[in-house]
Amino acid sequence: MVVPTTGSPTAPGFRPIRRRKVKAMDGVNARELFSAQRSLTYDDLILLPGYIDFGVEDVDLPSRLTREISLATPLCSSPMDTVTESEMAIALALLGGIGFVHYNNSIEEQARLVRRVKRFENGFITDPITLGPDRTIADIDAIRARYGFSGIPITDTGDLGGRLVGIVTNRDIDFEKDRSLSVSSVMTTDLVTAPQGIELREANRILRDSKKGKLPIVDGQGRLVALVSRTDLKKNRDFPDSSKDSSKRLLAGAALSTRPEDRERLDALVEAGVDVVVVDSAQGNSSYQVEMLKHIKSAHPDLQVIAGNVVTKRQCATLIDAGADGIRVGMGPGSICTTQETMAVGRGQAAAVYHCALHCKEQGVPVLADGGIRDIGHIVKALSLGASTVMMGLMFAGTAEAPGEYFYQNGVRLKRYRGMASIEAMESGGGKRYFAEQEKIKVAQGVSGMVVDKGSVRNLVPYLKQGLRHALQDIGVRSIPALHESLASGDLTFELRTISAQREGGVHDMYSYEKPALGARDTQ
Ligand code: IMP
Repeated sequence: MVVPTTGSPTAPGFRPIRRRKVKAMDGVNARELFSAQRSLTYDDLILLPGYIDFGVEDVDLPSRLTREISLATPLCSSPMDTVTESEMAIALALLGGIGFVHYNNSIEEQARLVRRVKRFENGFITDPITLGPDRTIADIDAIRARYGFSGIPITDTGDLGGRLVGIVTNRDIDFEKDRSLSVSSVMTTDLVTAPQGIELREANRILRDSKKGKLPIVDGQGRLVALVSRTDLKKNRDFPDSSKDSSKRLLAGAALSTRPEDRERLDALVEAGVDVVVVDSAQGNSSYQVEMLKHIKSAHPDLQVIAGNVVTKRQCATLIDAGADGIRVGMGPGSICTTQETMAVGRGQAAAVYHCALHCKEQGVPVLADGGIRDIGHIVKALSLGASTVMMGLMFAGTAEAPGEYFYQNGVRLKRYRGMASIEAMESGGGKRYFAEQEKIKVAQGVSGMVVDKGSVRNLVPYLKQGLRHALQDIGVRSIPALHESLASGDLTFELRTISAQREGGVHDMYSYEKPALGARDTQ
C-alpha cells in the first residue's frame, strides 16, 4: 500500500512511504495445532471465526459417507441396540442421514429390520407383498404388524406376476370382526391400474386423480408387476432431502462383526437390500477385519463398506488397502465408553479425526467421526478436522425412534442407553465388536444407564442442521467441502482452550438457569 508523505505528490522531494502489507492472522492452522501429537479432544480446541458474506440459508450440508454414497445430512446413528433399529433408520434416512441397524440380534431379525427400512418408501415398489384370494384378513394383520403397512394386492397365484384380481386396504377390513374371512370376500375389485412402462410422474398423477391409496402396475395380460403408493407420494413431498437409492428406496445401513459366522449375516443383509455395512470392531486394525473386508469385496463388490474403528493413520492404511469405502474413527470417546480408562488404548477424538482424515483424504476415502458428540459444536469440530459425517449414539438415544420404552424416575421421563461392551449388552451378544463374546471373564468397556426423553429425531435433526448452518456461516464457509478446503489450505484457524477458557465458554456464575433441550423447539 502506498501512502504519501505530507505535502503534495507534485511537490519537489515528495517520497511515498511504502507500508508493509501485514497479513492479519490469528490462531494456528490444524497442522500446527496437532504437530505436538497431543491427544486433543473436541473440548480442547476452538475455531476462530471467518468472514460472513452470505446468509445461513446459503449454507449447504451434503457430504460423503463412503466412496459412492453421499448424504444431504451428514449425520448417522450408531449400531447400538438402544439406538438403531428400523424406526431410527427410517426417520434418519427420511431426514437425509442414515441409521446403522445393530447386530445384537439374530440374522433374521436384523435382516427383517433392514427390509423394513428398504420397503418403507418407494417410487415403484417392484417387490410388493401379495396374497392369494383364499388367504385371510388375519394374514393381512400379520403383514401390517411385520412391515407396518397395509394395502395388499391380491393375485390369482398369490405371487407377484400372478393376475391381479383385487386389492385389500385398511378401509376394507377396519371394522370386520371376523379375521378368519377370506380376502376374496372383502377385497376391492373395482381397480384403477396403470400399464407397465409408465413413468413415475404419470403414475403419481393417476394416483392423485384417482384418490386411491395404491396404484397397481400391470402388464398386457393383467399380471401384477409393481405397485405405487400414495403415502410414498406424500413422504416424497414432506422429505425432499431423504437418502435414497436409485430405485427411490430409503438407504439402509447395518453393522456386522468380523467373525466368520457373520458372512451368513452379510448375505442376509444384502438379500434384504442393505446399501452400506459397517464392520464393527472397537479396534479395527486386525487380521479378522482385513479378512472380512476382503470377503465382502469379493462376494458383494457393489456393497459399500465402512471399516473401523481406528484412530491412527497406520490403521487407516491397513483397512483402505483391504477395500474400505469409508473409515470410522474413534476409540474411547463414546459417552458410555470406558475403553481408554480400562485398556489405556485410544486417542483423543479431535486428534484421531484430524490425523486419520489427513491420511484418508489422500486416498479419496471419507471419514466418519464416531462418538463423543454432545452438542452441535462437537459436530462442527469433527467436520472442521476433516470428517465428512458424524456418528452419534448419545445424541439419538432417548428419542422416540430409539428402541425401548420410556419410563419415569423421580418424575423424569427416561429411556435406557447402554454401551455394546457393557456387561448387560455383552451378555445378550454385544461383545462381538470386542472379540469378547466367548470369554468366561468379561471385562466391560462400557456402561449401561439412562438418558432423558429427547422427543422425536424429526425435530432434533432439523435443529442440528440449522445449528450446523449457523456454525459454518460463522466460520465463513458455505459447505462441508469448502470447510475441508479451508482446513487443507490452512485458512481455517484454531486455538487451544485453557481450562479457564472452557469454563468461560460454558454458562457460568448464574444463580440458576434452564439449559435448552436439544431440538425441543419445533423448527419445521
Ligand atoms: P456416543 O455418541 O458418545 O454415545 O458414542 C457412541 C459410540 O460409542 C458408538 O458408535 C461406538 O463406536 C461406541 N461404543 C458403543 N458401545 C460402546 C461400549 O460399550 N464401549 C465403548 N464404546 C462403545
